[in-house]
Amino acid sequence: MKILVINAGSSSIKYQLLDMSTGKDLASGIVERIGEEMGSITYKTDSKIVNEQPFPTHREGMVEVINMLTDADKGVVKDKAEIAAIGHRIVHGGELFFEPVEVNAEVLQGIRDCIPLAPLHNPGHVIGIETAMELFPGVRQAAVFDTSFHQTMEPKVYMYGIPYEYYKEYGIRKYGMHGTSHKYVARETAKLLGKPLEECNIITVHLGNGASISAVKKGKCYDTSMGLTPLGGIIMGTRCGDIDPAIVGFIAERKNQSAKEVVATLTNESGLKGICGSNDLRDIHARIAEGDERAALALDMACHRVRQFIGAYAFELGSVDAIVFTAGIGENDPEYRARSLSGLENFGITINKDKNLNWDRTPSFISDDDGAVKVAIIATNEELEIANDTVKVLGL
Ligand code: ADP
Repeated sequence: MKILVINAGSSSIKYQLLDMSTGKDLASGIVERIGEEMGSITYKTDSKIVNEQPFPTHREGMVEVINMLTDADKGVVKDKAEIAAIGHRIVHGGELFFEPVEVNAEVLQGIRDCIPLAPLHNPGHVIGIETAMELFPGVRQAAVFDTSFHQTMEPKVYMYGIPYEYYKEYGIRKYGMHGTSHKYVARETAKLLGKPLEECNIITVHLGNGASISAVKKGKCYDTSMGLTPLGGIIMGTRCGDIDPAIVGFIAERKNQSAKEVVATLTNESGLKGICGSNDLRDIHARIAEGDERAALALDMACHRVRQFIGAYAFELGSVDAIVFTAGIGENDPEYRARSLSGLENFGITINKDKNLNWDRTPSFISDDDGAVKVAIIATNEELEIANDTVKVLGL
């Protein structure tokens, strides 16, 4: 069975066609710069093709995705009818969606209703679904939400200490993101532990350009570091993470900027990039090796915040079976992992130097055998999780 996973943004469509018998992707890629004079489509199978062409709307983008997938020469399916179902990644489901759902008119409206909570993402998702419905008539579709895994948080965890009416009127509360990844790695960690997920307390550490940490208690999300938006929590590539909220007003006044402008700086020009000018850990390590103090400070700060959250979540959970690292930095940066967990032997947290340095990409523990808390690395696979959820929710 083949499942097409779509992640439509405001001017892009990421796609992946998965063969569910192997869990591997048959083809993947991205349509970019939709609506601009010139756009491009990337199509990856064993080889990679990049074609430049204009895509006036998402419709033309999706048509080209289908053309590539069914191309006589490079295509991986003979006919689009081979695609059993489509799973859509949806960034924000607000308080409306607790789990993946089959798309219908009501669900589509629900995703529209959440637009104020994710104005950059949800409009693109709506267009992606509508276009897919038009081009794949009769093919069932599922919506899988980045926020739904975190909907098990209790009010004492997700409420902010601001006037209650703001929650009632505008839905301002902690929602959390990266839920698909946290759920996937938590489940895979439970498998490694050899215990049912419902019996495991796990701290999931998703460190990509965007990054978040979750406390998973007995298999369910208890707390997570991102908030109303993906700006909160730990220090990220270009996002500031948690800061004193008064800083927004302070900068707005000093620089004579609107709140929106300040938030744009906190989103795009802050985090690691704001401190040292680079948001890629590979550059940051190279610069540290050359004696760059700002780069060293940026790395120190980021690892410090990760430790803070892990510490807080360990207390929230009461006991921890495992800490799991995932995503670009979590999977590829041994030093970041080691620094985030250094000096925690008294809490039963140790990292084995060799295992940490020589991780072979298979889900495995990198902790010392006698460590009370296991430390694991598991490569995340959000697309596979979305495809699995799609199969499950549609009963295929
Ligand atoms: P996102 O999906 O949030 O855009 P990823 O999960 O792909 O991000 O992570 C991207 C980040 O991973 C890069 O910005 C870089 O900092 C980090 N990264 C990727 N490869 C390596 C590596 N070999 N060593 C250290 N960091 C890496």
